[in-house]
Amino acid sequence: MTVLEELKERLAELHDLERVAWLLAWDEETKMPSGGAEARAEARATMRKILHERCTDPELGRLLEKASPLEQELEPDSDDASLIRVARRDFEKAVRVPAALQAEMTRSGSRGYRAWLAARERDDYGVLLPHLERSLELRLRYIDCFGAPDDPYDVLLDDFEPGMKTAEVEAIFAELKPAQLGMVAAVAGAGAADSECLTGPFPVDGQRRFSLWALQRLGFEPTAWRLDDTVHPFESSPAIADIRLTTNLREENLGGVMACFHEFGHGLYDRQIDPALTRTPLADGVSAALHESQSRLWENMVCRSLACWRCFYPRLQADLPEQLGSVPLETFHRALNQVQPSLIRVEADEVTYNLHIVLRFELERDVLTGRLALRDLPEAFDAKLEEYLGLRPPDLKHGVLQDVHWSDAAFGYFPTYALGNVIGAQIWERAVAELGDLDEQFERGEFGVLRDWLRERVHRHGRKFTPRETLERAVGRPIDAAPYLVYLQRKLGELYGVGAAS
Ligand code: ZN
Repeated sequence: MTVLEELKERLAELHDLERVAWLLAWDEETKMPSGGAEARAEARATMRKILHERCTDPELGRLLEKASPLEQELEPDSDDASLIRVARRDFEKAVRVPAALQAEMTRSGSRGYRAWLAARERDDYGVLLPHLERSLELRLRYIDCFGAPDDPYDVLLDDFEPGMKTAEVEAIFAELKPAQLGMVAAVAGAGAADSECLTGPFPVDGQRRFSLWALQRLGFEPTAWRLDDTVHPFESSPAIADIRLTTNLREENLGGVMACFHEFGHGLYDRQIDPALTRTPLADGVSAALHESQSRLWENMVCRSLACWRCFYPRLQADLPEQLGSVPLETFHRALNQVQPSLIRVEADEVTYNLHIVLRFELERDVLTGRLALRDLPEAFDAKLEEYLGLRPPDLKHGVLQDVHWSDAAFGYFPTYALGNVIGAQIWERAVAELGDLDEQFERGEFGVLRDWLRERVHRHGRKFTPRETLERAVGRPIDAAPYLVYLQRKLGELYGVGAAS
């Protein structure tokens, strides 16, 4: 066996084990009876241990070293050179963190999760605080594993957005924040949209029939995709031809239908990775923000557009005749795009959403640098929410404890949601510039031209290039907030007749 063959075989096994771990997680969130929880926690911890051992195996390091001369000979863009480069980067990062610290973080995380559930239940932040303090201490030790970074937040951000620096996030947010605050104020002056048609009860069976029908128009193939129920929607792909979407259809509103469209965008990214990359570390999305850019593009740019609903709406009316049979398309479309400050991040509209993220990013930074003590976090959260959106949470569930991310001090993830919106708009702008107006196709229920363009420009590369390189290959430019703000302003002009402040 050549060095490259040996390396590939090891990496293929590692890939297989990782996907088995994903399947265990998918099953836990969708199918497992609650009685299986304890045994599943053990099984997942064992898998994590095995994965960590394999990722940091000195033999893997030796193989990567031996493959180094070969990497120099190969074309840098080739699959093999990319494989060696990315596998080395993964290895060098993994070996910096001692197994004991990794295990301690995992343990503290699951304790924190249970405490988070209890704290929400009792509306008592004190239940979570000691676990949060412990998790933060471990995060700081984790950061120490990476020497002395310019900014400690860089280390945490890098886990989700490889290569990106905190200063770049700050620069993007410095553009988004004042512009989006201005838009919220402008819309408040224009009066709220009539969104009564989005208040249920909507029979869940009808929602499910419609969702599956619409997903199949978008590109969901029954032989390669699934849709299942869960509490917090997510997407998981055990293989390129095995895409699992999950959603949470509830009678009260159509949020679960929109979640299907969001998760479809994630699924399509994974589905359209070059099959030649299968069973390698390259067969995955390149970063959290790039992944989120795809879900937001499909959810918002495509599936909130009037053109798309010209195709979808008659079918939705047929599946929910009592609720929507007599509601005109334009009323429904306007309601679906209403801008209204709200407490819950995951339910926020496109204009207020990023403000929820900016707020969390600012607080995470303050906690990490010691400017804000964890015990003062709830109050700081409420104060910022009031400042940006004019609302005060009635309890912790609607405030600082609404998201699971902070239950184990997993800082660094939140910014990728807003960066996903920004990148999604850049990619959408470029697609429309090259493909022309897509409305006519959407009205006919045809989405293949956009799917193919995204495969060619973004999806097929998987992790071959860095997130920055991947974006530049797609749109020819680095990350830029302007297209997102232009997109929002145009939309507000159309829906609310406001020019919206810049
Ligand atoms: Zn997402």
